[in-house]
Amino acid sequence: MDTFVQAIEPYVSTNRNEITDGQCVEAIKLVEESLREAVANGHNIEARTKMVEAEMLGGMAFNNADLGYVHAMAHQLGGQYDAPHGVCCAMLLPIVEKYNIQACPERFAELAKIMGENTDGLSTRDAADLAIKAMRQLCDDVNIPRSIKSIGAKPEDFELMAENA
Ligand SMILES: [Zn+2]
Repeated sequence: MDTFVQAIEPYVSTNRNEITDGQCVEAIKLVEESLREAVANGHNIEARTKMVEAEMLGGMAFNNADLGYVHAMAHQLGGQYDAPHGVCCAMLLPIVEKYNIQACPERFAELAKIMGENTDGLSTRDAADLAIKAMRQLCDDVNIPRSIKSIGAKPEDFELMAENA
């Protein structure tokens, strides 16, 4: 899921360019076609190899286009509660990106298509919302908890973590 987030965040970054876009699109497609299988069947080397390729492409993209609020916040959760980075990123992804839609709905409408959603006849906003739905589905499919309570997050820590993020 970290690989996935590291391809989504540079795709909607203000520092993106056509080269990083291409890397993100390919990484997202590879994750879509292989993450579920790699999780369900860890012995499937082909699926895991595609995940490694996706990881490398996303890494190349975010080293040039940067990451975003998902990582800024996930680093706080991971540090504060000693929680796995990919889980922290995945839990935050649909929430942060739903917020980000207002800045670039057309990018999210494209993301929905890249993730295999049918956006025919939909408004840009409705297509963008489909990208969030697809993100949630991917999280659910690989058993990502829906709440940060699952890693022990406490409201009294939020202010400090928000400031640090
Ligand atoms: Zn990461």
